[in-house]
Amino acid sequence: MLLYSTKKISPDVDLKEAVLKGLPPDNGLYMPYEMFHAPASFFENLPHMTYNEMAVELTKHIVGSYIPEAKIQEIISQAYDFDAPLIDLGEIKILELYQGPTLAFKDFGARFMGRLMGYFLEGSKQEVNILVATSGDTGSAVAHGFLNVEGIKVTILYPKGKVSDIQEKQFTTLGANITAIEIDGTFDDCQRLVKTAFLDRDLNEKLTLSSANSINIARLIPQSFYYVWAYKQLEDKSLPLYFSIPSGNFGNLTACLFAQAMGLPVSKIIAATNANDIVPQYLQNGNFVPRPSVSTISNAMDVGNPSNFARILDIYNNDWETIHTDIKGYSYSDTETSECIKKVHQEKNFTICPHTAVGYLAMEAFLKDKSEPSNAIVLATAHPVKFGNVVEPLIGEKIEIPQRLSKMLKGEKQSIPMSKNFDDFKEWLMNRM
Ligand SMILES: *Cc1c(COP(=O)(O)O)cnc(C)c1O
Repeated sequence: MLLYSTKKISPDVDLKEAVLKGLPPDNGLYMPYEMFHAPASFFENLPHMTYNEMAVELTKHIVGSYIPEAKIQEIISQAYDFDAPLIDLGEIKILELYQGPTLAFKDFGARFMGRLMGYFLEGSKQEVNILVATSGDTGSAVAHGFLNVEGIKVTILYPKGKVSDIQEKQFTTLGANITAIEIDGTFDDCQRLVKTAFLDRDLNEKLTLSSANSINIARLIPQSFYYVWAYKQLEDKSLPLYFSIPSGNFGNLTACLFAQAMGLPVSKIIAATNANDIVPQYLQNGNFVPRPSVSTISNAMDVGNPSNFARILDIYNNDWETIHTDIKGYSYSDTETSECIKKVHQEKNFTICPHTAVGYLAMEAFLKDKSEPSNAIVLATAHPVKFGNVVEPLIGEKIEIPQRLSKMLKGEKQSIPMSKNFDDFKEWLMNRM
């Protein structure tokens, strides 16, 4: 399996190098040459498969004989012991992606990636330092996905005061090979620090650095699987299939494009954002203008320069006409998002998190002028309890805390405060050994 850089300057690499490195030296993003199309037999057998059987089949198709089948089975069975059910709310269906240990869809990518990296490092003396910037959910998913994986140290950078208490607890209480750094700045500052570290010569001479943000291809590949899993659960598979994807860095949406390339019959992709509407703007007028992120109640999507956008452009060969036909963009304010949480709770007796609400609103808007029946699926990206301080006052009740979370909340927060200056971060990294 060969991968190239979207900047087309750095040489091609195999999967192991792409996964261990994260980013190519030319600062592009790794992309697989072949987005294989799954054989017809795969879709024929799909109704009889479990999630893990499906994931094993798709992984085999993607990596070929590069990883022995027994290893693939081991990676998948260690990564996944939770479901992704499709909930029917009438015109709109919800794909519940928060049944993993950290209650957000990022568990699907992070747990696969942790196991895959662990496999690539088996028997080697190399120690890999994972750097990850988080606006909330990535940190916890990566921390749990990599906890106690041998040969890997994880450093999590997060913006001070801008993640929820529950989110913070999820990645600051684990200890072991996980360290959290609290940056006096925004998520964009955290992302910049990580990106700068990857390009820094001194650091790269001393340490093997890698990324677990959605710039790492190992997170995106397994995220394509749950789109197929949603399809499997549909009663009438012949209807037009729409996915509304609450988006920030657009890894989740890129994974949907991967699923489409595998043969999943997706009719339309809906890009839903909060006030950070850089991509919906681009879809409307063809201009991609990154800008500093603004804080919203759907904070995991507060991204001012979506890193996976380069992959989307690459998939479409920069052809705005086609992108804007295939993908529809919508953005919503915090007020609209809050109203939606209230409404869905009242009308459907179902509680959604602020990110999911943004996706729900976008799907409603998209369906407005459609009269034919469809399979309209909104991705529920996080459990509402993770954003209880926002959601509970809106719905006027307490959300029950799942057991897997209440255990985590008992731990003691441990994090290192730091400025947003790169020199401080660099010095800390150089001296940690
Ligand atoms: C990360 C995250 C998103 C955004 O996903 P991207 O792949 O970055 O677009 C949306 N919702 C939640 C809850 C998240 O944690």
